[in-house]
Amino acid sequence: MLYKPFKDLSLSALGFGAMRLPVLNGNEAEIDEEETARMVDYAMRAGINYFDTAWGYHSENSETVMGKILKNYPRDSFYLATKFPGYDIKNLSRMEEIFSRQMEKLQTDYFDFYLVHNVCEVNIEYYLKPDLVDFLLKKKAEGKIRHLGFSIHGDINIMKSFLEAFGDVMEFGQIQLNWFDWSFQDAKAKVELLREYNIPFLVMEPLRGGKLASLPAEAESRLRELRADETIPAWSFRYLQGFEEAVVILSGMSDMSQLDANCKTFETFAPTSESENTVLYEIADSLRTGVPCTACRYCTKSCPAKLDIPRLLYLYNEFTFTDGGFLAKLALSAVDKDKQPSACIGCRRCIDLCPQMISIPEVLKEFAEKVAE
Ligand code: SF4
Ligand code: SF4
Repeated sequence: MLYKPFKDLSLSALGFGAMRLPVLNGNEAEIDEEETARMVDYAMRAGINYFDTAWGYHSENSETVMGKILKNYPRDSFYLATKFPGYDIKNLSRMEEIFSRQMEKLQTDYFDFYLVHNVCEVNIEYYLKPDLVDFLLKKKAEGKIRHLGFSIHGDINIMKSFLEAFGDVMEFGQIQLNWFDWSFQDAKAKVELLREYNIPFLVMEPLRGGKLASLPAEAESRLRELRADETIPAWSFRYLQGFEEAVVILSGMSDMSQLDANCKTFETFAPTSESENTVLYEIADSLRTGVPCTACRYCTKSCPAKLDIPRLLYLYNEFTFTDGGFLAKLALSAVDKDKQPSACIGCRRCIDLCPQMISIPEVLKEFAEKVAE
């Protein structure tokens, strides 16, 4: 297992994400505890020492199951991470209750890593109030949190405002980073911003929920020409090995074969080269769905409904790539009703202004219909 330094710690470069554990009867709330215990044991023996869970994973059962399993190992033999579920703003009035319950569920009296969970458009207004971060800093002063950080699914502007407020007390960030999202979700801007703040990061969604684990035949054969023995999922991990500040790459593994394959990948340091990254980015371009909006914003000046057209088109692209997914819907839920795709009045004033010749009203109409479904 490869290890990366974080302050005075040595963290396994591959982290065990407890958000897609094996389940029984196809029910995500019913974790297969026996199989999960076998996987944790295998992970420990393979050298993984970072375990990441959260209040909301597996319908609030992930922390309980991980607590039961991890109590069988010396507490100082692993690093435990969980998160405060402020993505649901109702939870912000239950900080003490939720934090105490997390300690009970995880059967611990301290968390090595604790994150403000999912900073995004829906909750930024509430997260920017000092209440939660002040509460967590108090827990840190009491020794119940060793390292405080945040995870983010919001866009770069959300991240900027969060860091402007709390960049001085955040010790790490957790971002969605992979070769597809480098430009698709502008992960590049997030990496650069964290570099400005000198904040190391953990990576989530290295395979974008499995979407990058297999590729169209033509793309796979391009990659095989470059590295005959590398598996397709391993390409994503090799790409991330190229980021020096990426401390832990979290993978939500659902079975032993995925865990075994990922552990093998992390036995060697073989980051992709610049020319290999160019190929990955070309493949990413070929996988893109949706519309080629470049966010030039020429169209917005003429819109009588004052819609943030490029933002809506960005969410449309996310929505179509993930077959609905959750990110686009979540971000859209933070958009005012009169600024939703359905608010387009079809005046067509924007069309002639778009250098990419995107049929904006038709796309927004389709988006509104799909979201309504
Ligand atoms: S067609 Fe829709 S998006 Fe385009 S300018 Fe008119 S209201 Fe705005
Ligand atoms: S003019 Fe076209 S490319 Fe530019 S932001 Fe508007 S939709 Fe996107």
